[in-house]
Amino acid sequence: MPAGIRELIPEDRIRSRVMELAHQIDQDYADAGEILLLGVLRGSYIFVADLSRALSINRRVDFIALSSYERDTRRAGVRLIMDTRVSIEGRHILLVEDILDTGRTLAYLLEVLAARRPASIRSCVLVRKPTQEAQVTADYVGFDIPDDWVVGYGLDFDDRFRALPFIGTLDPGALD
Ligand code: 5GP
Ligand code: MG
Repeated sequence: MPAGIRELIPEDRIRSRVMELAHQIDQDYADAGEILLLGVLRGSYIFVADLSRALSINRRVDFIALSSYERDTRRAGVRLIMDTRVSIEGRHILLVEDILDTGRTLAYLLEVLAARRPASIRSCVLVRKPTQEAQVTADYVGFDIPDDWVVGYGLDFDDRFRALPFIGTLDPGALD
């Protein structure tokens, strides 16, 4: 275990929860024909890789990327810096995010993407913290976690720890 990290969600619990989510999504979209999994880089890349392979329904995969900036208003402090490769109009979109914290990011994305007239849009988050400020809910939630900084399974601290197989909490004071 790296210094400063404490395991919160072990690898096998992540694996079984991803299977459960995929099963639920398969059922909910049974009549949809095809969905587009839209991962939000970079934190969701491992979750998207596992979820997309656990699904049985027809699915495509694409990614978008955001940049955050200092916010001086109550608007979302995020902006799209990489857009989808395919048009989302008329498609069933499942937005896949790593973390629902204040909810500003998800609220911003849902607003921007809904304006492009997808056939439907839902969201799936790996973890949810108890800290939502924006009026937004996720349709699929992997795990509810406390309000601590988490890393691993794609999640980083300063671009470190993404490749850890589990989700852990970080004590920044204890880092090497
Ligand atoms: P929100 O807009 O909901 O406040 O923030 C969501 C974004 O903040 C996530 O997509 C993620 O990039 C970042 N974030 C919030 N909490 C954490 C955390 O504990 N660990 C990591 N790695 N990112 C976090
Ligand atoms: Mg993120």
